[in-house]
Amino acid sequence: MTSAPSARRGRASTRRRGAASGEPRRHVSVLVIGGGFGGLGAAIRLRKEGFDDFLIVERGSEVGGTWRDNTYPGAACDVPSHLYSYSFELNPNWSRSFSPQPEIQRYLRGVADKYRVRDQHLFDTEVTAAHWDEAERRWTVDTTNGAFTADVLVPAVGALCEPALPAIKGIETFQGDLFHSARWNHDADLKGKRVALIGTGASAIQIGPTIAKDVAHLDVYQRTAPWVMPRHDRAYSKVESLAYRHVPYLQRVAREAIYWGREAYVLGFAIEPKILKAAERMAGRNIDKAIKDPELRAKVTPTFQIGCKRILISNDWYPMLARENVELVTDGIAEIRENAIVTADGTVREVDAIVVATGFHVTDSPTFERIFGADGRSLAQVWDESGQQAYKGAAVAGFPNLLFVVGPNTGLGHTSMVFMIESHLNYLASALRTMREEGLGSFEVREDAQRRYNERLQQRMKRTIWTTGGCASWYLDKHGNNTTLWPGFTFTFRQMTRRFDAAAYHLTPAEHSAPALTEGISA
Ligand SMILES: Cc1cc2nc3c(=O)[nH]c(=O)nc-3n(C[C@H](O)[C@H](O)[C@H](O)COP(=O)(O)OP(=O)(O)OC[C@H]3O[C@@H](n4cnc5c(N)ncnc54)[C@H](O)[C@@H]3O)c2cc1C
Repeated sequence: MTSAPSARRGRASTRRRGAASGEPRRHVSVLVIGGGFGGLGAAIRLRKEGFDDFLIVERGSEVGGTWRDNTYPGAACDVPSHLYSYSFELNPNWSRSFSPQPEIQRYLRGVADKYRVRDQHLFDTEVTAAHWDEAERRWTVDTTNGAFTADVLVPAVGALCEPALPAIKGIETFQGDLFHSARWNHDADLKGKRVALIGTGASAIQIGPTIAKDVAHLDVYQRTAPWVMPRHDRAYSKVESLAYRHVPYLQRVAREAIYWGREAYVLGFAIEPKILKAAERMAGRNIDKAIKDPELRAKVTPTFQIGCKRILISNDWYPMLARENVELVTDGIAEIRENAIVTADGTVREVDAIVVATGFHVTDSPTFERIFGADGRSLAQVWDESGQQAYKGAAVAGFPNLLFVVGPNTGLGHTSMVFMIESHLNYLASALRTMREEGLGSFEVREDAQRRYNERLQQRMKRTIWTTGGCASWYLDKHGNNTTLWPGFTFTFRQMTRRFDAAAYHLTPAEHSAPALTEGISA
């Protein structure tokens, strides 16, 4: 059995050691999977709390997660940057309200350097399996770059991380360039080509207008028309940046104002959907302004209440659809051939390239198939039966010493995910402090606590727009439950995760007190 995470100073090195190669496993107190906003934030927080014996295992070559991977033309955040950034690292230099991807990625790289946590990342390394070892009361973790044991496992793998390709007949036979929005092929030159864009979600509406002017022809394949609101984006002036740099308080005020403005949406989403009627009217005017053709207007007018699916923001989506070289196709795709897409009505549209913007494996991440709990079942197996659920979006019964950063029911449709991430980092830090102070070896959330928590959450979910708004969306899992979104104000979530609530957990004392849990090879 292992003991509580130690606060002893020590650096996680990147020595290659592997169980398969017969080399001993390296031990770390905390092993975090993923180096996006969540994993990087965890590194900084753990260091701040004095837990230096941790490792961030990241399959990519750099920090950034979402913002490293989504390099498609037009990629940008859709929550204003002054809010969509760490609270402890405001950036007075954002160039505009909704920063483009390269700027966000630069920010994250800069944060990793400034807080000197880069060397605690093990890059180009994928976690291939993690098993809870009941006898040793710790995790054994296999990666593509060595094997580890860890007292605490922290999956920070993000919900929008694993691209989902649509299961379309013949997709593998296509001879042109075909790629997912989150894996943009920058070698594929789309200029002057006939291009198909499959999907009309948050990524597609940034991609379409950016490429439409350069391609010869663009077919946009739409299954469901989204609600699209105007995008109040503008460049920040030098004076504003200077003011924010020299009077940080001003930026805090701006951030607070954005936060509370966004939080007001929750009144409509989760309490009284009628409030959203004004937003629906505004989005309707957005359509009327840009599209004169009644047939096209009908095609782009959603058939569900605004808010039921993610509300998108764009000033150029509708003008793009009205362009001469763009066709909005609403017939379902029947088949993909070597050089064409065939729709259900039999129409064949020849294309040179296909961009797939059909979203992500949100509730069925492959990583969930690789994490095995106390009874030997994987998270994927457990959640296949119950639907994905956790206690406070962090802990899962049967999976001791595991805390997610933004797990089930922590997603948002209206404001910054970084707020939720930082709430979970509070919870993680508090749990580790509790382990250290109380001399605990393990914690495991009680099944009854998890059940009660989720019953209350799903009860609240019933009256939200995501349930009542008349749409099917990626928020819902195969059981029809919304296991992705947080159904309330984010400040309530912040309050709820402020402290590790030990009473909801089975706790086991450490068998022996605080041996070195830092650099040592413990097997
Ligand atoms: C195009 C796009 C735009 C978005 N815009 C916004 C926005 O404006 N506002 C907002 O709040 N949210 C936005 N989001 C959501 C965004 O994903 C979150 O805000 C945030 O970036 C999530 O951070 P994360 O660290 O939780 O996950 P991610 O950024 O997804 O990072 C997860 C990391 O885990 C790694 N990983 C996964 N599995 C393994 C494994 N088995 N082994 C090793 N490493 C692994 C991945 O490589 C990745 O680096 C957007 C998402 C997308 C896709």
